[in-house]
Amino acid sequence: MTKVTIKKTERHYLCRMFKKGTRLYSIFSAKCPVCHEGKVFTYKNTFHPSKFDKMEDKCSVCGHKYEMETGFFYGAMYVAYALTVAISVATFVITYLIYNDTPYWVYIINILAVLIILAPVNYRAGRIIWMNLFSSYKPDVLEKHQKSKLKNE
Ligand SMILES: [Zn+2]
Repeated sequence: MTKVTIKKTERHYLCRMFKKGTRLYSIFSAKCPVCHEGKVFTYKNTFHPSKFDKMEDKCSVCGHKYEMETGFFYGAMYVAYALTVAISVATFVITYLIYNDTPYWVYIINILAVLIILAPVNYRAGRIIWMNLFSSYKPDVLEKHQKSKLKNE
């Protein structure tokens, strides 16, 4: 068996991909797409049946409004749809690799089960990816927000 080694430069590249300041950091940590500090979802538990969809209206740290315009999150359905297709294809391939020759209903049941279990993840990922398409990281946003807060006081 060959040992998979990651070169030092590749490891640094992987680390940089998920570092604060990148969209992937915001997506995987479910943090505000503008300041990467404030949380997007009210409850941490993704799999809570009645609370997984509760979102903050705006970022508690920088004040960025998450729903940028009325109906903004309708677009998140397209992202969630794409994720659904990707998950379905992946489940199909894994089912094929495990069972190889099996009736079609096994595929359908497996795909449905995985989609139902991952529905909250899909919902949240769809929204946070959609938000990241329209907002980007601004490192100086915190200073500006604090200055404007001081002015208003
Ligand atoms: Zn923020």
